Amino acid sequence: MVRPHFRQTERFNKYKALSNIWFHHRMKFSDLGLSSKVLAAVEAAGYETPTPIQAQAIPHVLSKKDVLGVAQTGTGKTASFTLPMLSLLERGRPRARMPRTLILEPTRELAAQVEQSFEVYGQNHRLTVALLIGGVSFADQIKKLDRGADVLIATPGRLLDHFERGKLLLNGVDTFIVDEADRMLDMGFIPDIERICKLLPPSRQTVFFSATMPAEIQSLADQFLRNPERIEVAPPSSTAKTITQGIVASGSKPWEKRAVLRDLISNAQDLQNAIIFCNRKRDVATLFRSLNKHGFNAGALHGDMDQTSRMATLDSFKSGELNILVASDVAARGLDIPSVSHVFNFDLPTHAEDYVHRIGRTGRAGREGVALSIATRSDSKYIDAIEKLINEKISWHGDRSFSSQSDDEEEDSKSRRGSRNVKRGRGNKKDKIAKDRRNKKENDETPDQKEERKPRGRRDRQDRTNDQYQFEAPARPRPPQHRGNRRGRDRDDKQVIGMGDHVPAFMLAPIRPPKRKGKKVQSETAE
Ligand code: AMP
Repeated sequence: MVRPHFRQTERFNKYKALSNIWFHHRMKFSDLGLSSKVLAAVEAAGYETPTPIQAQAIPHVLSKKDVLGVAQTGTGKTASFTLPMLSLLERGRPRARMPRTLILEPTRELAAQVEQSFEVYGQNHRLTVALLIGGVSFADQIKKLDRGADVLIATPGRLLDHFERGKLLLNGVDTFIVDEADRMLDMGFIPDIERICKLLPPSRQTVFFSATMPAEIQSLADQFLRNPERIEVAPPSSTAKTITQGIVASGSKPWEKRAVLRDLISNAQDLQNAIIFCNRKRDVATLFRSLNKHGFNAGALHGDMDQTSRMATLDSFKSGELNILVASDVAARGLDIPSVSHVFNFDLPTHAEDYVHRIGRTGRAGREGVALSIATRSDSKYIDAIEKLINEKISWHGDRSFSSQSDDEEEDSKSRRGSRNVKRGRGNKKDKIAKDRRNKKENDETPDQKEERKPRGRRDRQDRTNDQYQFEAPARPRPPQHRGNRRGRDRDDKQVIGMGDHVPAFMLAPIRPPKRKGKKVQSETAE
């Protein structure tokens, strides 16, 4: 019998993994080859030992090797590239419009966060860091570029804008970092990244970080990285053991989900602060308004907000002025908000990986965290995908029945509406189906979505007021409007029995029979 070599056995793999843990556990920042200025800043930041991604990536980045890092936010990956970059930048000086290093981030928040890291870790350096992000004026950014930047942190679109305006040359870039590459893929930035890569000198060092490694990112890495060191710190599917996860069943109407959410928040134990995720930015705005109306201290974060409002909201949340943040995935991706006690999924994410990212906002750095998701009847496929990815079952809290009185009532009212139409015997079948659909859609809509359907001219003025209310004004209840017809608003608070006191508009509309020659036209209502 041919015995497998020890190095090929499972036992060896276990041994290797254990020794890696042991090795990195024992490692100190001073073992990694960082400069004394950087080590002093690390000490001032209060870090005692490097995290696994830092222990593995820093020596490679320092030796100017290409690196492919598979790591999530929360693992300390930002310092794993900023610390060695700072050490390397101690030699040399920047030239006007020719940055020496370039970091690409998918969102403005992440870019701003990396800039803050340079401030913290680079406190003993005199380096120029330029932040090129959308939503702020070009003028200041151009001034910084003209002075010469050691570090350029940018989102791909704004970077290319500057390049096309001739304000920037990329052939002086020595180190190129692409952070959150899989999110760049989700956001459609891959063609921009390919273009940027081609504008950089071929001799540069390239470092890619991604939480997951889909085929598109792998092929981008194959194309632009030379013989990279591959580092993987935690499988992307793993969730921290310190997070208590749960699912809560709800009826499918937005107002029912909002009521369930309010219950969860009000009954949560030890809730210090929470992030609530919605799948659509439109729902972020609606939920934000609803929570404030119900007296919660909430802020909103989504992609349509201008940069100043986003930063202001984030700062208020970090400082504890706001204790609830309603957010979309893109806006919240990678945000470094230490110690969030609770994460709520108002909607279950359609991509299972997003679940891992979302709940990763809590239970960080060994702290306890709670992540609760609201599920409707049609969400079971998403739950299956999530459980498969994280390789564990998520427990259900409370009654696992999705049916709500309202669902049954909706069915009821639909059939009643149907029979009424039959009795009246007017309109063809197609019209009836279309009307029923329209009616159901309108019933499901929030007041804001109804607003959305109005022609532009009519909603412009109110939009402006809404936006101000939404992102700038302090929480205050809005005076009730449309007293006579409060369909959407009432739904937030109480269940409507049957059709309630509401008579759908189509039933009140006058009916005009077709004109016949020689006969007097009579309307149905006049009969
Ligand atoms: P990141 O994954 O880069 O978003 O970092 C997550 C958090 O970990 C940030 O709040 C960092 O300040 C913190 N951090 C990074 N490195 C260390 C370290 N070696 N020890 C303790 N905290 C760290």
